[in-house]
Amino acid sequence: MTSPVWHPFTQHGLNEPIPHVVRAEGALLHLADGGTLIDCISSWWVTTHGHCHPRIAAAIADQAGRLDQLIFAGYTHEPAEHVARELIAMAPHAPDQPELTHVFYSDSGSTAVEVALKMALGYWHNRALDGLGEARSRILVLEHGYHGDTIGAMSIGERGVYNAAWTPLLFDVGTIPFPAPGNERVCLDALDAACAQKPAAFIVEPLILGAGGMLLYSPDVLAEMAAICRRHDVLFIADEVMTGWGRTGTLFACEQAGVVPDIMAVAKGITGGAIPLAATLATAPVFDAHRSTDRARLFYHSSSYTANAIACAAAVANLAIWRDEDVRGRIALLADGIAQRLGKLAQHPAFANARQLGTIAAIDLIAPDTGYLSDLAPRLRAFFLERGLLLRPLGNTIYLLPPYCVDADQLDSIFAALVAAGSQFGVKP
Ligand SMILES: *Cc1c(COP(=O)(O)O)cnc(C)c1O
Repeated sequence: MTSPVWHPFTQHGLNEPIPHVVRAEGALLHLADGGTLIDCISSWWVTTHGHCHPRIAAAIADQAGRLDQLIFAGYTHEPAEHVARELIAMAPHAPDQPELTHVFYSDSGSTAVEVALKMALGYWHNRALDGLGEARSRILVLEHGYHGDTIGAMSIGERGVYNAAWTPLLFDVGTIPFPAPGNERVCLDALDAACAQKPAAFIVEPLILGAGGMLLYSPDVLAEMAAICRRHDVLFIADEVMTGWGRTGTLFACEQAGVVPDIMAVAKGITGGAIPLAATLATAPVFDAHRSTDRARLFYHSSSYTANAIACAAAVANLAIWRDEDVRGRIALLADGIAQRLGKLAQHPAFANARQLGTIAAIDLIAPDTGYLSDLAPRLRAFFLERGLLLRPLGNTIYLLPPYCVDADQLDSIFAALVAAGSQFGVKP
């Protein structure tokens, strides 16, 4: 029987197997046929502590029986207030930079990014109404960036086959070259020149570009980018949707550069990965540009489930786990375990460009045909699936982004499969 379900990022014409998962626990997915898979990519980068963390599951069950959903325009509830207070306290701080002071909720990374863009343009629009400069609308982005799949989020992301059908709808942006090793100055000079043209904002994924291929750049470059924006009075937006919640070794990636963005988008791991929730944090000047007795200046954005109480309760539980448990210790241990094994894998002649940031590892497979549309990625997916691993390479880039609870034995089997994949699919030396 064929299923009526249309899956995301799935070419149904290839008839790849679609495993049916019935249960999950820690890093393991249990299949309907009795098998198990190690979730090596945290179910698309969302699961942090592990699947079905008992404290998060209990918080969801408890909240579902008390207050499920509430209109958030003009009403509030304790889980949303609690998460906002803690987010502000945990967000990046630096003595010489304005603090993030306000939290706007939404329900996915894409919408958190859309909200960030709308806040940035709203800021310049409302200031212009007060005679404080021009209304600005241009957005600067980083080459190879990814910020989501809605129209606005696609507009500010890398263009390619994955958004070709919609280019007529995408707005124009200024693209800054990626600061690849040796190319940092080119990137920063281009940003400096572009900022002089008075754009509204510059948006980046801090320290690592995820969907663009797990591309790393240094905290120094990130700090310099933020400084250039500040010097030119251009809003600096950090998209921490993937990098947040410990992924890069610190709670937020911006911490490693001592950067406090003007606007910061968070999502994925905010509930530990159990249920959708997102937040866009802003500094007081961004909030204050919208605060007025004039109703025309309010922030015109909402979705039905803004700050859903059950999702916020899951986030409260996630924050309690961060507070009470040694999550940072677990992350450091995992990062170490990955580093040891990745170092060995890097010796394999079929691999190049081994790289790691915190709990994220990536390596490029040297194979005969490695384009995005080559059949390498589906073949690799099938190869890993047979070996009990959920892995989803980006073209020829194989990356790991596991839940923090993945153990040494599981890491061993993951890396053994990577070696086997190198030998089977890689170019022979
Ligand atoms: C995943 C991702 C998004 C989009 O988040 P969704 O919840 O999938 O909409 C945005 N930005 C970055 C950096 C991401 O990795």
